[in-house]
Amino acid sequence: MGTISSSDIRLRDLLRSSQLRYAAAYLLITSAVLLFLNIYAPLMIRRITFSSQRNAIMDKAQLFVSAFSSYEKLDEKNVRTAVQSVKVLHTARVVVTDAGARCLYDSLEPSGREGQADRLVFYPELTEALEGNDAVYIRYEGNELISKAAMPIVSYNRTIGAVYLMERDPDQAALIAGLQRTILWISIGLGALVLLISAFFSVLFSRRMGKVFVSVRKLHGGDYSARLPERGSDELARLGVAFNELAQRLHHSEEVRKQFVSNASHELKTPLASIKLLSDSILQNEMDPATTREFVADIGSEADRLTRLSAKLLELTRLDTQPVEQLEPTQLYPVADRVLRMLTPLARRQELRLSMDCPEDCILRAVPDDLYQILFNLVENGIKYNIPGGFVAVTAASSPEGVVISVEDSGMGIPDSEKPHIFERFYRVDKARSRKAGGAGLGLSIVWDMVQRNKGSISVSDRPGGGSRFRLCFPPVGPEEVTPA
Ligand code: ADP
Repeated sequence: MGTISSSDIRLRDLLRSSQLRYAAAYLLITSAVLLFLNIYAPLMIRRITFSSQRNAIMDKAQLFVSAFSSYEKLDEKNVRTAVQSVKVLHTARVVVTDAGARCLYDSLEPSGREGQADRLVFYPELTEALEGNDAVYIRYEGNELISKAAMPIVSYNRTIGAVYLMERDPDQAALIAGLQRTILWISIGLGALVLLISAFFSVLFSRRMGKVFVSVRKLHGGDYSARLPERGSDELARLGVAFNELAQRLHHSEEVRKQFVSNASHELKTPLASIKLLSDSILQNEMDPATTREFVADIGSEADRLTRLSAKLLELTRLDTQPVEQLEPTQLYPVADRVLRMLTPLARRQELRLSMDCPEDCILRAVPDDLYQILFNLVENGIKYNIPGGFVAVTAASSPEGVVISVEDSGMGIPDSEKPHIFERFYRVDKARSRKAGGAGLGLSIVWDMVQRNKGSISVSDRPGGGSRFRLCFPPVGPEEVTPA
């Protein structure tokens, strides 16, 4: 079985990489354009040159034919005279034949040589002309552009002979070849440039992507200090910004999680330590039944504290992990009424009055269970942090802007310096009093999370005359939605 080396893997990665595909696509497009340029441009130049050459040689042939227009019959003499009259034109070869293809004039033969008429000429162009048609033929041969043309000489609708012209043009041919060569060199240069630029950008991109991979791996391994450069404004720079934000957020979440676990363990440890201490005391000491009962009752209340604490921790975990339930139009009155009924025994024990001023048709959009828990925690706090003979009041009012609920108490209030922190997890203002009241500093953080989930807002202020006022705002419910469950 063969082994796969790291260079094999790198090569495989490179072949699969999108940058290689992009580079290949650019090269393919460039090659196609250059190929087109190399084939099409010379073809067009050739076509234009051939066409102008064709016109030029035909014009010349026409001039020769016009010189014979006054003759009814051709012979060597009158042909020579006619040819002399137009010979000023630069032409490599002029041949004139009679209708039977006998040569009457050939510019290549020494002038004045007799007996030419015995020679028959069978150039294809001439044959075509003697049949009454114009013939033209342009060809690129060696380093020359060769043009041949033949035209019939007609007198009274009868072909009495034909003119044949032949020209060689090395300049035109050199021009075409030169152009072709220039285009080829430009193409090679351009291809090399595109190749170089693609390779440059490919390497650059690959380096930057490499940094992304390294940072992602670091983050995956728990190194939250991993950061990406944010220079520039291209996609990778934007990815860098997003990555850094994500790393920072993950770092923060991790810190919060660690803090949470450590606080939760601490909170759990305290009642457990009390239970252990109390049970050890019962076991080790000779105690009278009354003291033993007192100790067992203390164990019971510590166990209650543990139960409440685990319920709140579970609630927080649920809020952190579970998606938001569907918000639905909810009537406030029955929910608030249920909260007050549940807490009345506790309020009685503290000699407090609970009151509610809430319109029965007050509707807001929320998860009913969340609304219950929010109000429960706020009213319970109002009772816990109050003074005997005081009160807790729940009032609500709805307006087009939304529903505003106030939970006020006549308690000791919250110092201004503490207000920004009371919604943090495990935060207590008066540690001793809070713990005595059975609190772990989680109630308000649960309220905060739930209010956010229900698209509301919460604020705290001093109540004029002493105590605190918690103010909740929820967005209004549209008239078409007012059909509460
Ligand atoms: P706990 O479970 O300890 O009551 P909370 O998160 O509900 O925790 O409240 C955080 C802290 O804010 C409490 O420890 C308490 O000191 C303070 N607090 C909350 N509500 C009130 C209030 N109505 N009046 C005075 N202090 C309050």
